[in-house]
Amino acid sequence: MLLGASLKEFRRCIRPVIAVDGTHLKGRFGGTMFVATAQDGNEQVYPIAFGYGDSENSLSWEWFLNCMKCTLSHIDDLVFISDRKASIEARIYKVFHYATHNICCWHFYETIKKRYHRKNVTAIMDKVARAYTELQYNRHMEELRNLNQNAYDYVIDVGPYKWSRVHIPDRRYMVMTTNVVECINSCLKFAWQLPMLTLANFIRNMLQRWFHDRHRAAQSMRHQLPDVTHLVILKRVDKCNFMTINPADWNIFSVKRSGKQWIIDLAPKICICNKFQIDLLPCSHTLAAVRDQNMDFTSLCADYYKRQTLIDAYSVPIMLIGHPSNWIVPSNIAGRVILNPISRRQVGRPRAGRHISYSERKTTQNCRRCG
Ligand SMILES: [Zn+2]
Repeated sequence: MLLGASLKEFRRCIRPVIAVDGTHLKGRFGGTMFVATAQDGNEQVYPIAFGYGDSENSLSWEWFLNCMKCTLSHIDDLVFISDRKASIEARIYKVFHYATHNICCWHFYETIKKRYHRKNVTAIMDKVARAYTELQYNRHMEELRNLNQNAYDYVIDVGPYKWSRVHIPDRRYMVMTTNVVECINSCLKFAWQLPMLTLANFIRNMLQRWFHDRHRAAQSMRHQLPDVTHLVILKRVDKCNFMTINPADWNIFSVKRSGKQWIIDLAPKICICNKFQIDLLPCSHTLAAVRDQNMDFTSLCADYYKRQTLIDAYSVPIMLIGHPSNWIVPSNIAGRVILNPISRRQVGRPRAGRHISYSERKTTQNCRRCG
């Protein structure tokens, strides 16, 4: 199910980073629901497509991705994020041969934690993956090597260009995980057991409400940036204190603090810390220079982060479909007979929740003496 409202504005208003995942349905015929979603400038879930397949296999993924490609057509710098299943990666490269595939950092950390049973490895890996410069990356990788040489060899073997922000060929912005898909899955938790058409209608109703509410909320925002992005900027502005600015010309500045120095060029929008050019949002050093020159920082933010872009992203409403008795269905479609899918029902009551991963399991330790 692809909704024209989100597809139309995705190309123009939303960062081209799509998280994809599959979820097992709990209805009578089972099956898997495929979800593709992005994030808007206010860090909210921006759904793009939903699909239904018999199971999470390569052919189902290919069908789902082909349906998406027909409507999205070519997008430069398109990035997909998913877990490490080889079937997803292979099909993404087959269908979107011009796109980049990255792996979800959270799933990656979980795999490492499960393999090497080290608690600290997640914290260190998070620093490595989120590093903006080669220097930071090397420093944290050295920490990882000191903690566990095997874990170090494993992450190198997987390939830093798949998970490290500084090494991936295209921009991943601030999207490091497939958490946006998990958000949608959480909203649909109680709808997984519904029949297909009822589930599709449930999703359509939910998105219709989201689009309406977010459009109104975006219109009532007071700043030129959406609320969440505005908060990110405010936090960065807090770090600007005690920075010394030394301008070279109208665009080039040197910023010093605590013995460190950063060079900024506002014309191509780059800072030596790499944050400015990777996120397309000014870093604290750039904000310090801009504040020193009494300039407006909003012009340095990419359009994806602006309030007007957020309004545009939700400007097309999701239309009502009315009662099926009022639909005008073409005769060639009305004559089709769709049979129930062939499925094998598992023994016992279907699970209500998702499978809990290894690291999420709570372990309780009892006293050996009193239990
Ligand atoms: Zn910077």
